[in-house]
Amino acid sequence: MSLESVDNFTICRSCGALAGLPRGRRRYRQACRCDRAEQERWPGFDFNEHLDLCWCCGLEPIPSGSKWSSFYCADCRERVRDYNEAWGRALVYLGRHSLMNDVVVRGPGTSGTLPPALAGFLGGMTAFYDAMDRWRPSRLQTVLAALGPALPAGPEAGALRLADYLAATAALTDHPALGKRAAFAALLGFLRLSPATGGDATAVGSPSRG
Ligand SMILES: [Zn+2]
Ligand SMILES: [Zn+2]
Repeated sequence: MSLESVDNFTICRSCGALAGLPRGRRRYRQACRCDRAEQERWPGFDFNEHLDLCWCCGLEPIPSGSKWSSFYCADCRERVRDYNEAWGRALVYLGRHSLMNDVVVRGPGTSGTLPPALAGFLGGMTAFYDAMDRWRPSRLQTVLAALGPALPAGPEAGALRLADYLAATAALTDHPALGKRAAFAALLGFLRLSPATGGDATAVGSPSRG
């Protein structure tokens, strides 16, 4: 699936999702998640979305609309995959389809050693979606707060032009506090999962609230 042009898309400040109509199309305008509930399924789509932002870093647009669509940009996907492989199971989901979350265990001593506390997070996809519905706007707010007035006001209250946002965040990829690595560390913290590099598994229970 190719990436749609970002030209006609906006980002919703409330839900962090994109809205818009891809260039050259007349139909199937994407609504942000605040107001998507009543739409009929578009032909050829598993869900009504042309384009999304990476669920981890929020810095890159990603193709969407298929049950095979990844939740992440290439860099974040690799971090998530490595993390899951280190634990021998999908602690952070990669995508909607169960096959995408099959973990291939590489390396020694990683299978069957998951601490019981960590297994508590495995509340399934619903719990994961619920957590990500809170993480994604919170991540967006972190980035927007750092950008401050550098970002042009959007075309309407509560929405920013995606192209403006991407231009303003283009240099943040490797930023120590706001970049992709930092975003993944913050996401693990939000989900109350152990840091990627620590050996100690103290993660627990349900994702943090609020
Ligand atoms: Zn919204
Ligand atoms: Zn990413």
